[in-house]
This record gives sequence, C-alpha cells and structure tokens, in this order.
Amino acid sequence: MTGTVLYKVKYWTPARLTRLVRKMADEQKIENVIVVGGGPAGYTAALYTARANLEPLVFEGFQWGGQLQNTTDVENYPGYPEGIMGPEMMNQFRAQAERFGTRFVTDDVDRVELSEDGGVHRVFLGEEEHLAKSVILAMGAEPRRLGVPGELELGGRGVSTCGVCDGAFFKDKKVIVIGGGDSAMEDAIFVSKFAGELTIVNRRDDFRASRIMQERAAEQPNIEFKTPFVAEEFVADGDGKNLDHVRLRNAETGEAEEFGLEGAFIAIGHIPRSEVVADQVETDEDGYIRVQAGSTKTNLAGVFAVGDVVDNTYRQAVTAAGTGCMGALDAEWYLRDTPPSPEAHWMPGGEPTEVAPTPGS
Ligand code: NAP
Repeated sequence: MTGTVLYKVKYWTPARLTRLVRKMADEQKIENVIVVGGGPAGYTAALYTARANLEPLVFEGFQWGGQLQNTTDVENYPGYPEGIMGPEMMNQFRAQAERFGTRFVTDDVDRVELSEDGGVHRVFLGEEEHLAKSVILAMGAEPRRLGVPGELELGGRGVSTCGVCDGAFFKDKKVIVIGGGDSAMEDAIFVSKFAGELTIVNRRDDFRASRIMQERAAEQPNIEFKTPFVAEEFVADGDGKNLDHVRLRNAETGEAEEFGLEGAFIAIGHIPRSEVVADQVETDEDGYIRVQAGSTKTNLAGVFAVGDVVDNTYRQAVTAAGTGCMGALDAEWYLRDTPPSPEAHWMPGGEPTEVAPTPGS
C-alpha cells in the first residue's frame, strides 16, 4: 500500500524528502532559470546562463527580438564596424544563446506567480505551467506612441522613436522632435548635431523637461520650438516610400498646417512591459522594476530584472545586453549559494511529507 503524497503536512524524513523530490522532478521539471523576454537583455542573460550549464528556458515573446526588430541599421553596437540591421543582430544574439543549449518558447507569457520567499516561481502560458528556481525578467519597454495615421507605416522611413539610434541618418535634413520632456530635449540636442533644421513640437506652451535641458536645447543654433501643436498624421511622398510632411494642428486655435520635413522623432516617453509582474515585484511609479543599486536583484529572492524594463535612462542595446549579463551572473551566484539544502528549498508549497495512507486505500 502506498501513502498519498501531500505537501505542507508535518512529518517527513530526509529519505522521504529525496524520494518525493525525485518523484516531483519526474512529474514536472523545475528549471534552474527562466528568462522572460527576447531582446538584447534576455538573449544575453540566456547566453551567459547557458554557458554556465544552467540550461535556461527563454520565453522570448511572439514578436521576439524586442525593439530592435523594428529598427533598421544599428551603427552604435560595438563589434559591428559596418553596422548591422536590427533584426539580423537579434537573430545572431539568439543563435549564440542557442548554440550553448538555450531552449526557446516563441510566445508571450500570460501570467507569472513569483514566490515571495525564494521558493519555486511559476510561469504560465495559458494553463501550461513552468516552474523555476530563479527568474530573469527582461520584458523591455516600448516607446509611447501618438496613435496617429502614418506613424507606424513610416517607421524606419522617416519616423523614428530613437534619436540616438537614427539621428545620424538625417545629416543636413529638416526634422522635428515631438515631445516636451527631458527625452525630447536630449534627442533634439543629439539629432541637431546632424540635422540642418530641427523643430521641437510640443502640445503645450509649457514643457515638462527640466529647465537646464530646455536651455541647452534652446542654445543650439539650428533648434526652434513650435507650441502648442499636436501631430495628427504623417504623410508619405508621392511614391509612398518616405515621409514627406506631417499634419499639425494648433491645440488652441484648432488651425491645421502641413509641415514639410524628412524626419520625425517621437519622444513622448516609454512604457515598461512590466504588467505581467505588476503587484508582485517592486516598481517605481512609472512601472519600471526596481533593482538594488549595482545589481539586478529585485525585492524577491531569486528574481532578477534586466534591460529596459528597469532602465528609464540609457535604453541602449549595449546597456541592455550588459545588464542581461549581470542578471545571468546574479542568478548563477544565487543558485550556487542558496539554499543550503536545495531539495527542501525548491519544494513548491513548502515542506513536503507523506501522510499516513487513508484507511482502505
Ligand atoms: P516624460 O517626462 O513623461 O515626458 C513626456 C513628454 O511627452 C511630455 O512633454 C508629454 O506632454 C509628452 N506627451 C505624452 N504623451 C503625448 C501625446 N500623446 N502627444 C503629445 N505629447 C505627449 O518622458 P521622458 O521625456 O521620456 O522622460 C522620462 C524620465 O526620464 C523623466 O523622469 C526624465 O526626467 C528622465 N530623463 C532624463 C534625462 C536627463 O536628465 N538627461 C534624459 C531623458 C529622460 P505633457 O507634459 O503635456 O504630458
């Protein structure tokens, strides 16, 4: 007669525990590390954890590759002196992680249940459950969009959400930067080094940006301000290839105007993709996951966060990859150093025991 196996019941011995853990592992594998996200941060975390023999499982998202999937030439990633197309670079990141045994699931995670006490974390695809001792959150961020016609269609053909990435393609051209925050000022200052004429278009006469950033932008000889205007449509040239003009409307008078240009940079903020762990890990008021300074540790043991879902400041592929590496090393050290008795620690639901068999069973 065999006893019914339950967890969270009192009496157990090390031998029983070992047997139960083996049984559980047979029933459902507990991964060393699950990486959520398939951009530069997630793939770098995968590469490092794979090379550490941790056999990472990566949920890379249905549209794997992150923001670089929507980017054309990347000229500022070290090691590519001739530049490389964003999607091709992500392909290479992915292939390099795969070479060392990373397993990929090309789908979006539906739900995550993170343990609050360093126990087993659960990642769900629909009802399909995956368990892990550690999780690296690398879901990235997305640029906030205006939501107007032509914005997405002309992406990479005149409309951009990254001044640092694309500014150099607009040498001596006429461009606008839309937005009134520090990012808009920073993008404008950077892009003005290349552009011929640059106009900052803000929907209010007042700016959200810090005074010093506004002043720096205003000091550039080729930067002008246009307020209070909203962009209503980006329009392509005659053969439909490239951006030709933007339709602007004065937010006070309602008057419309066509503004001819070759480039438009939208810099109205970012949205971190932290919704799947909202209310589970600590975030700031904008939803960026908080990590301990100088590390990738969140407030939960065994849960690490990397890349743009953390970073509201630098947001570059190379900085995301750098923190992906940090997250992998943090996870590796965490798995190595804790707990003293891994089998007891990783048992979901607490300490396992066997209860006495039910009479008659
Ligand atoms: P932000 O401070 O939230 O500013 C967003 C800007 O976009 C605001 O001017 C906002 O207008 C405008 N906006 C939002 N939605 C819009 C829409 N649908 N249409 C038109 N305009 C719209 O975002 P951020 O500039 O990306 O900055 C984020 C954080 O990073 C801030 O804390 C910032 O200080 C920091 N940062 C700092 C630096 C630096 O110090 N060097 C550089 C970059 C970013 P309203 O004001 O009317 O809402």
